[in-house]
Amino acid sequence: MYQLSAKELRDLFVSKKVSASEIAEYFIKRAHTVDEMTGAFLTILDERTLKKAKELDEKRASGKPLGKLAGVPIAVKDNMNLKGVKTTCGSNFLKDHVALYDATPVRLLEEEDALIIGKTNCDEFAMGSTNENSAFKIAKNPWDLECTPGGSSGGSAVAVSARCAPLSLGSDTGGSIRQPAAFTGIFGFKPTYGRVSRYGLVAFGSSLDHVGPFATNVEDIALIMEVMGAYCERDSTSLDIPRENYLDTIDESLQGKKIGVPWDFLCDLPDKSKKLFKESLKVYEDLGAEILEISFPDLKYCIPIYYIIAPAEASSNLARFDGVQYSARAKDAKSLAELYDLSKEYGFGEEVKQRIMLGTFVLSSGFQSDYFKKALKIREMLINNFHHAFDHCDVIALPTTPNGAFKSLSIKDPISLYLQDLYTTPANLAGLPAISIPCGFSGENKPHGLQIIGPQQEDARVMRFAYHFQKNTEHHKKIPSLFDKEELS
Ligand code: GLN
Repeated sequence: MYQLSAKELRDLFVSKKVSASEIAEYFIKRAHTVDEMTGAFLTILDERTLKKAKELDEKRASGKPLGKLAGVPIAVKDNMNLKGVKTTCGSNFLKDHVALYDATPVRLLEEEDALIIGKTNCDEFAMGSTNENSAFKIAKNPWDLECTPGGSSGGSAVAVSARCAPLSLGSDTGGSIRQPAAFTGIFGFKPTYGRVSRYGLVAFGSSLDHVGPFATNVEDIALIMEVMGAYCERDSTSLDIPRENYLDTIDESLQGKKIGVPWDFLCDLPDKSKKLFKESLKVYEDLGAEILEISFPDLKYCIPIYYIIAPAEASSNLARFDGVQYSARAKDAKSLAELYDLSKEYGFGEEVKQRIMLGTFVLSSGFQSDYFKKALKIREMLINNFHHAFDHCDVIALPTTPNGAFKSLSIKDPISLYLQDLYTTPANLAGLPAISIPCGFSGENKPHGLQIIGPQQEDARVMRFAYHFQKNTEHHKKIPSLFDKEELS
């Protein structure tokens, strides 16, 4: 069963070839083994999943209609709420925090009879590119256990790459779905800003945060997006537009479509990555698409402005963690001011503290116009330039990351780590739909990703480009050999 797609698993269940309880037992067992080997999970929901599966078996027996994700195991990043289950955000601050309500995307999945098998490991409050900032444990890359799976949604990427769930949810503020998808050889999709509700996602950078899926194939991305891509009145940034049937148009031809490539932004791309990127473009040319060179000099400002805007918003969002309302509370505080200070001191890790300080600095009255306001202006310019670019081309192609996965804990310098997000932050700053597609390997065990970015609300188009690439290549079919085994289940 571990090799099956979400759709195939559902079919198996609906056609009564297997029960939901059997699926649950199989994948829960696998999740435990994979977790021991990789650190992918923070919570595995043994009892809850088996109970839900039993209810689902009864539903099937009663002849009631079954949901679009009936019997499909799904892992959820631990910064999204599932009522009655811990939401830790990978932080000591929230290590005992139990969610009081369901995040909208998670609720929508369960309403379609999905089986949520666990909460996945992540960088603390989704800040990072390696999963090394989790307060609990690092996560390891299924292709090479010495390497990082990427971050911040590393655990969710590992869960799908090691096949203990065909689907998982991540959050992407500057690349945290696409980068780990690229590092672990799977698909990762960040929808248009506002397409998937963020109600119940713990906020990091509110103007940049997105919820999206990981999968082993594009059809499953489309399937889960049909379920989650819905208006939500509890999220003020939710797009009030109808749901879409992405699967209906996924096979439309790419003949004559135009793909823009900002070569001037790619001059520093390492040779191995450039080779894979060029080979990927060739796949599209063979399908009748045209590759256009576009000039996009503003892209080089994305990292500096992202690392002003994201920490600024984070410093405001994380102010609520003051020791009063949420779990960690300094026991030795002697005054209210000390309670605030010490709770943060004990509860937050280094990276989070660094971001809060940076964010507070760029928002301070003396420096606001030098940094924060300037960054907002450049962001606007960037958005306009994307509009102009999409006048000429249907999508823009970029590598997902400058390189494949590197050894865990090997990059110490924060600036070098921030540069991991070079090609992913543009789509967050402009709120555009973007996908990372497995596009080949540099070395035996180093997957890379090709990124396709579309105009706002053209999520279906992005999926279509990914689908045709998948149909004409084999890279996505490879499973990391350590995990390509039935015995784990
Ligand atoms: N790596 C980026 C950061 O550290 C992106 C994180 C994310 O997308 N959640 O901020």
